Amino acid sequence: MKNILKILIPLLVLVASVYQFRAPLSTQFAPLLSKIESRIHPPVPCAEPIPYNLGTFDTQFGISKSYFLSALADAEAIWEKPYGKQLFTYTPADTGADVLKVNLIYDYRQQATSKLSSLGITVEDNRSSYDMLKVKFDSLKAQYDINKTAFNTQVASFNQRQQAYETQVQYWNARNGAPQAEFNKLEATRLELVAESKQIQVLQNNLNAQADEINALVVALNRLINTLNLSVDKYNTTNVSRGETFEEGLYVSDGINKEIDIYEFSNRDKLVRVLAHELGHALGLEHVDDPKAIMYKLNQGTNTALTATDLAALKAHCGTK
Ligand SMILES: [Zn+2]
Repeated sequence: MKNILKILIPLLVLVASVYQFRAPLSTQFAPLLSKIESRIHPPVPCAEPIPYNLGTFDTQFGISKSYFLSALADAEAIWEKPYGKQLFTYTPADTGADVLKVNLIYDYRQQATSKLSSLGITVEDNRSSYDMLKVKFDSLKAQYDINKTAFNTQVASFNQRQQAYETQVQYWNARNGAPQAEFNKLEATRLELVAESKQIQVLQNNLNAQADEINALVVALNRLINTLNLSVDKYNTTNVSRGETFEEGLYVSDGINKEIDIYEFSNRDKLVRVLAHELGHALGLEHVDDPKAIMYKLNQGTNTALTATDLAALKAHCGTK
C-alpha cells in the first residue's frame, strides 16, 4: 500500500504537468499567503537564509547521506556564489515546521534509470537517444511476445496433463488404490509434472526479467516523449500501468510545510541541477524561458552554474544588494 501510494500520490498531484520539473505548487496560493504573512512579518524575500535538512532518505539509490549533502551544498552554492549572500543554511538538528525538508524518494523512476544503466544504456535528452531506445524497445518487445506466446502454450499443455493426472488419481483412489503397474505409470507422470513445473517457473522468471527491462525502457521513452515534446503515442508498460508524467524533482509548499522531493537522477551533475532548480522554487522563483537555465522547466542543460537569465530572475525577486 505504501508503495502504491508513493506512485499514486505524485500522479494525482502532478496530473496536469508533463514536465520533468514542476512549477511550484505554492504559486496558486501565493496571493492568499502573502496577505496572511504580511500581518505576521514583513514579506522580505531572501532576507533570512532558508533552513533545510534531510527528510526521507531512501538507501535504494545506493548513495550515502554525505554524497547527497555535498550535492545539496553545491546546489546551494549555485545560487549563493553569484549573488554573494547566504540564501540557505543546513540545520541538521532542527526539525521545526519551518525547516525545508529535502527528501530522496525511490520509486519506478529511479528504478528505471538504474535498470537501464545496469544494461549499459545511458539516456540522453535528445531525439537520437529516443530513437535508440525505441529500436531496443521494438526488438525486446518482439522477442518478449514470442516468448510469452510459447510460454502460454506450454502452460496450457501442462495444465491439461496435470488435470488428466489428477483425474486418474481420483479414479484409482475411488477404487481403493491402483494396481502396481498403473501406480508406477502415475508416479512417473507425477515426477515429470514436477520437473516441468520447475522448468516453467524458470521460464516465468526469465519473462519477468524481460518485462522489467521493457518497462524500464517504457518509463524512459515516455519521459523523453514529454521532455522532447514528441508527437507520438505514449507506451504502455508490459504488465503494470505506470505514470505518464515523469518528474525528477518537486517542490511542495502549503505555506507552512515546505518540502523538496527528489525522484531520479542519472549522475551527480543532474542531481545538483535538479536540487538547485527546486531550491530556486523554494526561494520563490518561477520557471524562465532560457533552455540552458537552472530554472528552465526541463533539466536539459549541462551547466551547473546560473545563466544570466537565472541571475536576473533571482535579482528581480530578491533584490540587487
Ligand atoms: Zn520547476
